[in-house]
Amino acid sequence: MPDFDAIVIGGGLVGTAVAYGLARRGKKPVVLDEGDIAHRASRGNFGLVWVQSKGFGVPEYQRWTRRSSDAWAEFSTDLLSETGIASGHERPGGVTICLTEEELDKRRRLMEQLNVEAGETQFEYEMLHRAELKKLIPAIGPEVVGASFTKYDGHANPLYTLRALHAALLKRGGRYVPNARVERINAAPNSFTITAGGQTYSAPKLVLGAGLGNKVLGAIVGLNVPVRPLRGQIIVTERVQPVLPMPTLMIRQTVEGSIMIGESREEANFDDTTSPEIVHTLAQRAVKTFPFLRNVRIVRTWGALRVMAPDGLPIYEQSREFPGAFVCTCHSGVTLAAAHALHYAQYVIDGTLPPELARFSTKRFDVRAAA
Ligand SMILES: Cc1cc2nc3c(=O)[nH]c(=O)nc-3n(C[C@H](O)[C@H](O)[C@H](O)COP(=O)(O)OP(=O)(O)OC[C@H]3O[C@@H](n4cnc5c(N)ncnc54)[C@H](O)[C@@H]3O)c2cc1C
Repeated sequence: MPDFDAIVIGGGLVGTAVAYGLARRGKKPVVLDEGDIAHRASRGNFGLVWVQSKGFGVPEYQRWTRRSSDAWAEFSTDLLSETGIASGHERPGGVTICLTEEELDKRRRLMEQLNVEAGETQFEYEMLHRAELKKLIPAIGPEVVGASFTKYDGHANPLYTLRALHAALLKRGGRYVPNARVERINAAPNSFTITAGGQTYSAPKLVLGAGLGNKVLGAIVGLNVPVRPLRGQIIVTERVQPVLPMPTLMIRQTVEGSIMIGESREEANFDDTTSPEIVHTLAQRAVKTFPFLRNVRIVRTWGALRVMAPDGLPIYEQSREFPGAFVCTCHSGVTLAAAHALHYAQYVIDGTLPPELARFSTKRFDVRAAA
């Protein structure tokens, strides 16, 4: 008899969201998680629940992201009522701020493209000129020329979200096992046995939610998961009075008052340190956008590694060789946490992924070079 209904490898935002979703549906999952030395995107990210930059040329991604953003309020409310832990989720809309006319023109074209590609689902947005934006966010500086706005965007505290997910998982009878690095998997169709941290676990379902670890683990169960690290650096300031009524793509104010300034995109392999040049560039743009930041103290900077597919899209697949084994990975694990908990977990239980997720299959990596 299997011990659990599902083994989930990875206790970050992705693995724990799916495990919580399974437990919500009465299943008994176990989450096996590596030790504290692991790279953990879930503990170093920016916290946006963000729609307006997602899915250029891939409307399926825009729809999936919006579906998650729409589900976040329910997700967050449920976590609060189950655990007493507030995720800090707010959805006041969000803006991508432009500092030059060229940036604004480019942004306008991208937003038009998203709207055209959305088809009948439509994509509501507004292009705001400086004066309109100033009414919304009076703190903008003289160099700001405008912004794009959508009502779909918001933000949350990723650490509280992760904590709430862990607490809710345990409360619903799931198990979390730290210091349990998985190196081998004994796989057969709908039957998986894993020894980790000196214990053996078995289940008819396996979910790979191990972030950058999915590449190696996927190969064991016939899943091609070519994720790579992409570093981002973030600056956090001291707490200040509420001044930003909504998040922007690069700068947001937390519920507690800190200003977070993000975030770079750098190929740095597994190096998650910070560099003065990048921090300087981020700070410079932040001060141009919001001049009051010149007088606000930085309290911390850090680097963290995104979990990035070659085309930047999530990877969702069930193994053909070992049915019952799924991979769930993406570079927007805060944004997609609600979809992973409320929808992806159900697909794992059903044993099949729906057509709307076909665009995120690993089949897209199988394309051979033309002869
Ligand atoms: C700088 C930065 C900014 C970001 N900003 C945002 C944002 O604003 N909004 C947003 O939506 N997303 C953002 N992200 C992305 C988001 O953080 C990630 O998509 C998300 O955290 C990925 O979660 P994960 O659970 O897949 O990976 P991780 O958090 O990396 O967790 C993977 C877990 O798997 C475990 N693991 C790995 N291998 C094994 C193994 N063999 N055995 C057992 N356990 C294993 C690890 O220990 C780890 O705990 C950002 C990321 C970065 C780096």
